Amino acid sequence: MPESKPEQASTRPVFSGDGVTGRITRRVFAYTLLTVLLMGGLGLYAIYATIWNTIVETQPLALQLSREWVRERLDQAPAELERLSQESALQVWVRGVSNPPGGSTRSPSPPDQSALMGSFSEALARSSVFSGLLILDTQGDVLAAAGSGPGLAGLRALLRPKSSLGPELVDVMRTSQLRAELGGLQELSVRPIDPGPVPALELVSVPLRDPQGRAIATLHGLVRRSELAARLRAELLGAEANIFLVDGKRRVLASARPSGRAAGEPLLSKLLSDDGSAAPRVVWDTDLGEVMASSVPLGAHGWTLVATTPLVAAFQPLFLVACAFLATGLVLIALFTTMASRFATRRIARPLWPLLQALRAAARDEFLPVSTARAAGEAEGLILAFNTMVSRHQFRSRELETSHRALQDQYSAFQHQYQTVSKRSITDPLTQLNNRRYFEAQLQRELKRWSRTGHDLAFLILDIDDFKKLNDTYGHAAGDEVLKQVARILKEFVRETDLLARFGGEEFVVVATQTTLEGAVTLAQKICTAIAETSFIVDDTMRPRSATVSVGVSVFKGSQTDLFNSADAALYRAKAAGKNCVMVAEDPDE
Ligand code: GH3
Ligand code: MG
Ligand code: MG
Repeated sequence: MPESKPEQASTRPVFSGDGVTGRITRRVFAYTLLTVLLMGGLGLYAIYATIWNTIVETQPLALQLSREWVRERLDQAPAELERLSQESALQVWVRGVSNPPGGSTRSPSPPDQSALMGSFSEALARSSVFSGLLILDTQGDVLAAAGSGPGLAGLRALLRPKSSLGPELVDVMRTSQLRAELGGLQELSVRPIDPGPVPALELVSVPLRDPQGRAIATLHGLVRRSELAARLRAELLGAEANIFLVDGKRRVLASARPSGRAAGEPLLSKLLSDDGSAAPRVVWDTDLGEVMASSVPLGAHGWTLVATTPLVAAFQPLFLVACAFLATGLVLIALFTTMASRFATRRIARPLWPLLQALRAAARDEFLPVSTARAAGEAEGLILAFNTMVSRHQFRSRELETSHRALQDQYSAFQHQYQTVSKRSITDPLTQLNNRRYFEAQLQRELKRWSRTGHDLAFLILDIDDFKKLNDTYGHAAGDEVLKQVARILKEFVRETDLLARFGGEEFVVVATQTTLEGAVTLAQKICTAIAETSFIVDDTMRPRSATVSVGVSVFKGSQTDLFNSADAALYRAKAAGKNCVMVAEDPDE
């Protein structure tokens, strides 16, 4: 029966920002957020450091490997080209060129050319250095060209009319012409033939001389740029990293990523020191942004290998991991916060809600036990303790109520007795009028009021005439009866606000407030008349008896003694005057 109210209350919403649910939820949110941030920060820092170290460590390694490969070819190139220049087919071809049947030096015979081309193709197949060969005459015109692999198919196009050659190739030819005049094996001073039709780099050139020692043509050893690029690409680590080859004039000769941008002049000038060597460092590039770049020189040829890793691209995995971490973190935070909120609501707030309701009711003195149906653990313990408290309280309040009622009864009885006693202490038992003690106490109050207000105050003293005789004649009981009936008559005539008392024996007194002497005399005469006209039945004979009173009247003028004495004197005069009459106190001034 008493559990129904809190049970209903428990279905009300229990989430409150300041309540236990809100606090627990906020704590869990904060701790989860802290954990996610801490773990995320550490994880991301570890990834960041790993990426950074990988770049810093792998760049020099990749450059070193690329450098070894390129250096090997550059070192072997002069000897290899020298050997090729001694090929018999070439010597035959040279002799044919120098002594043509028609006397021309610029038109080798077709059979000679095809034999030469076949010889070149075989030589290139064996060569680990060259992928293409080119013979230019002293004017820079192409006399013969051969290349292995798909990248050098365009070499054959060089045999066509010169109009198809690009300006860069013409430039190469002029250089070759110059070399032919100088004679001898040239230093490596290769320049790119790009964007011309030959995707190749000249590694080395050697003059071809006729038997008289005149330079009649130059033989150029070429390497495919695509092969070089593929080799550089093999060393790459990272999607956006690049390795490229630049010459002494900082022109890009080959790039591991031909499609991607290599590096601009500002980056190279910042990167390349005097000897072309630079450890990995962060350099700003207008196109690539921040770049980790390093370089290594290839030797005395002025070539340098440069490695670049754009940091934005390199750290993109970090960004992706951060995004994934953030998303996971948010999911975790949402999950844990929701779980904490639900847990706190279901396990703490909701079980405590009926208890809270019951406690609020207890504050209004409505002590009701609570159901433990939804509670567990500490909540159940609390509710059980509360219920114990409620049953003890109910037991004690019943006990208290019983004792309270008993006390109340005792108190009423005591009060009744007290009233009776106090009534008796101021009441005359025979006449039920106020007794003399009460009269004197009340008189003091009236006198004080008189001195405060100045209202008239009259005093009457009444004495039953010949009362001794009445007693003697009809008996004491008859006398008592007369006293009682006289008292009743007095009560009728005297106002509630006046003070009436039995003064002693058969004497009565009246203090009439706000009453003049005349008023008091009138009252006294009315009383005299009423008593004289009353038939007193005093015994079983039922015969009417008569009685009279004499009255002395005075007014208060400031002295209580005077008041009494003058009234007494007046009474005495009334007795002397024959009784059953009213006499006024004589004014000593009149
Ligand atoms: P006077 O007319 O001069 O007053 O004469 P008196 O007889 O009335 O006065 P006195 O003083 O001589 O007598 C009073 C008598 O009143 C004496 C006493 O026995 C009687 N008496 C006093 N108190 C009581 C009482 O309570 N009951 C009865 N029955 N008589 C009382
Ligand atoms: Mg008397
Ligand atoms: Mg008398």
